[in-house]
Amino acid sequence: MIELRTPAEIEAMKPAGRFVAETLATLREETKVGTNLLAIDRRAHELIRRAGAESCYIDYHPSFGARPFGKVICTSVNDAVLHGLPHDYTLRDGDLVSLDFAVSIDGWVADSAISFVVGTPRDEDLALIDTTQRALDAAIGTATVGNRIGDISAAIAQVARADGYSINTDFGGHGVGRIMHGDPHVPNDGKAGRGYPLRPGLVVALEPWFLQGTDELITDPDGWTLRSVDGSRGAHSEHTVAITEDGPIVLTDRSWLGVD
Ligand code: MG
Repeated sequence: MIELRTPAEIEAMKPAGRFVAETLATLREETKVGTNLLAIDRRAHELIRRAGAESCYIDYHPSFGARPFGKVICTSVNDAVLHGLPHDYTLRDGDLVSLDFAVSIDGWVADSAISFVVGTPRDEDLALIDTTQRALDAAIGTATVGNRIGDISAAIAQVARADGYSINTDFGGHGVGRIMHGDPHVPNDGKAGRGYPLRPGLVVALEPWFLQGTDELITDPDGWTLRSVDGSRGAHSEHTVAITEDGPIVLTDRSWLGVD
């Protein structure tokens, strides 16, 4: 069921959005060559406790998960692109890291993801990250009253295809509110003019992610981490966005923190 939020409810979602933005900015700043993925999770956990927030991930156990996630952040490195379960791995020079983070505060969820390189970047990794960010910008620009879900999907896909990436539609955006994954689904490819009409009060997580080679994923033995079948690297950019009469509000915006 698709739920629409009142302006007061959107206002009430802002603290969660701000906290997720600040946490990702902090973690990005602190994550370097030599940082262990488990240390990123511990730090995120500490920030959650300090803020009195609640992790959306730690007890998360959907049908496709073998067991509850058990950590508070997804850390996907190189050929892992989504749902990366933090494990004992120390980041190396040139690693491409995606952090995906969601919490609730006062019962309202915010969900956002960021990709970046630690140490010396490869040009092709920076290009991939840039494409996911521009696809997210295009999606946000299309998230206006009068458009439809298909317009967002088409905007994302157009950016990816123009840059030569293929698209996997198994995982995409979703409604956000009292729970992390609600209706509607927002695929990363679709037809403009189709799908649910964008109404004021619709809050969605928009999350383009692309791989440099294949569009096929396999799940690691940990039951969570999704990795490209051909070893090619992936990147992921996500924001929680409220659609309003006055245009989209990016609830997880980090730009005021000096981080894209
Ligand atoms: Mg997310």
